[in-house]
Amino acid sequence: MSAASSHLLICTCEKTMPLDEQAIGRGCPARITQANQLCGLDLERYKEALADGGAITVACTQEAPLFREVAENSPQAQLTFVNIRETAGWSNDAAAAGPKSAALIAAAGEDMPPISVVTLESQGVVLIYGCDEVAIEAGQRLADRLDITVLLTKPRDVTPRRINEFPVLKGTIRNARGHLGRFELAIDDYALPLPSSRAKLVFGPSRDGATSTCDLILDLSGAAPMFPAHELRPGYLRADPRDRAAMERAIADAGGLVGTFDKPRFIDFNETLCAHSRSAITGCTRCLDLCPTGAITPNGNSVLIDANVCAGCGSCASVCPTGAASYALPSVDALMRRLRTLVQTYRKAGGSNATVLFHDGEHGEAIIDALARFGSGLPANVLPLRVNEVTQLGPEILAAVFAYGGSGVAIVTRARPRHDILGLRQAVEMTGSIISALGFGADVVRILETDDPDQLRAMLDAA
Ligand code: SF4
Ligand code: SF4
Repeated sequence: MSAASSHLLICTCEKTMPLDEQAIGRGCPARITQANQLCGLDLERYKEALADGGAITVACTQEAPLFREVAENSPQAQLTFVNIRETAGWSNDAAAAGPKSAALIAAAGEDMPPISVVTLESQGVVLIYGCDEVAIEAGQRLADRLDITVLLTKPRDVTPRRINEFPVLKGTIRNARGHLGRFELAIDDYALPLPSSRAKLVFGPSRDGATSTCDLILDLSGAAPMFPAHELRPGYLRADPRDRAAMERAIADAGGLVGTFDKPRFIDFNETLCAHSRSAITGCTRCLDLCPTGAITPNGNSVLIDANVCAGCGSCASVCPTGAASYALPSVDALMRRLRTLVQTYRKAGGSNATVLFHDGEHGEAIIDALARFGSGLPANVLPLRVNEVTQLGPEILAAVFAYGGSGVAIVTRARPRHDILGLRQAVEMTGSIISALGFGADVVRILETDDPDQLRAMLDAA
């Protein structure tokens, strides 16, 4: 839906922010209706827009559930919601934020392609890995929901149970791979308990190299995680057995992991473009070097990306020199379209000196929200653009900001990013050098690593 064809409803949110209807109109040539409390006293205006039919853009996201409910009897209504309050209107610079509001509204109207998903299926077969009774107790609590096997590594003295509801085995996991619904384990020191175990569990002869499969792993061993970036591995739950709260969370989470689960397919991969290897000589390993989850493995001339394991950081796509790996949430094309509309509408509405602030949903949206509520808000020339992960941004997207008429790029990340942002740093460095050589100035492509809203504002003002 494009803003050009829509009825645009803007609201001052009980006169807490000014609206520059002229600037918005310059950027968004739609029919505009203004309100002071669209979700309440002025709701009739929304209902009238619904009755008129056609596409409607509502410049409010907080009350989107209410507006959707009101529209239930208008199934033909095409609704788009966009936030111009925390991102533009609630700011010390609100009076100058008209062009930005226009840009945000227009960008929200750019359609994003549907998301492709992969489906993980779990029958609830769980391996609980531990050292002692803690693992067995967890098994007892989950036995009514999951198919339990407990594996004890180097078991301490464990009192045999009176009735064996589920197997308790001995073994140490040497290697684990897979994901929810399909884990494969290699186990050393594997042994069965003797049925005559009396005061403590006694195990029979052990062997190395046993194999097993399961749908999920509940790791209460306190040993090193079985996977890199283990908290992102679907179906792998780990808790320190000394941390009661973490244990409770892990047990509760495990109980819910039965059934089918969809996860986005984050990466589109074209193996014919992959430059990993030719004639047994390794060429490119950029994605392999950066992937935090181990989702990428060599596979002959190309690599293989396991969509079931991929957590969607986008680092592989941002560093891939050939385009073999490209981000799909959204595709680069779709993100470019939204970016172009954002920057060009801002200029068309009368704005200048645009800095695009890329942010994610979890950390970035929260810090922008806090800055608007408790601080001075975003500067009027800073155009926030949410992406799935900031690490998905490659040089082509960062450079496009300038090609479309922007003057700067800022990317906000956590003060201590949860995962390596080396790929993003490389993209920023490369783009910064190119842009600087083209005469846009130094330090116009920046990563802002902060959890503090006021510091974010200070960093943006320091540009
Ligand atoms: S998006 Fe991240 S987790 Fe997924 S394959 Fe690429 S580098 Fe690995
Ligand atoms: S970065 Fe791209 S070209 Fe290089 S190995 Fe990975 S997918 Fe292939």
